[in-house]
Amino acid sequence: MSIAIALDGPAGAGKSTIAKRAAAALDYIYVDTGALYRTIGLAASRRGVEPVASPEVEEMLKQITVDLTFNDKGEQVVLLDGEDVSGEIRTPEASMMASKISAIPAVRAYLLDLQRDMAKTHNVIMDGRDIGTVVLPDAQVKIFLTASPEARAGRRYKELVEKGMDVKYEDILQDVITRDYNDSHRETAPLKPAEGCVMVDTTELDLEQSIEKIISVIKENI
Ligand code: C5P
Repeated sequence: MSIAIALDGPAGAGKSTIAKRAAAALDYIYVDTGALYRTIGLAASRRGVEPVASPEVEEMLKQITVDLTFNDKGEQVVLLDGEDVSGEIRTPEASMMASKISAIPAVRAYLLDLQRDMAKTHNVIMDGRDIGTVVLPDAQVKIFLTASPEARAGRRYKELVEKGMDVKYEDILQDVITRDYNDSHRETAPLKPAEGCVMVDTTELDLEQSIEKIISVIKENI
């Protein structure tokens, strides 16, 4: 049987960087489920479909295909109708679109099997918002990773500036606060710690300490 590690938490807690490194150390596959919501958000932007529950969104879901693959470096590649959109889904606009579109129950239902299938066939560290609560409630280890909004905004700001993007810290902080609110107040699969999860707060930890902590939590629990 394959092993599943569910890693949930708010935007910017460092889930993806930490999960990637932990997956490499443990020889698991890292699955970034946020990329799937971002891809649906991108599809809606391209078609001019509003990110609200509607027949248009349901029609769009029938027309598009979303696939998860991995390149030869083991990195996740997400395909929208066969096109690699892994870069295009990383802008702040795409983040906000993903946050809105992910509140739509039909969108969450559409992505459920894709996520579960990955965990059936591989040992995974899956990062998201509802992995321990909805997608993989039987995961062997469930972790809720968090940090203060200011710490999270600061990290995301640094990351985007390093990529050469022209962004303001205050805007990023506002984005983080808005997305936290959207994620934890939606009716379907809101962001909340799963039953039996281990809580890890990284506000005071640097990246290496956070990775060490997550790897030790995983090793203690499998
Ligand atoms: O993790 P990331 O920031 O890339 O996720 C983008 C958005 O997708 C989040 O703000 C959240 O609203 C949504 N999401 C979700 N459930 C997941 C993963 C992401 O609702 N499992």
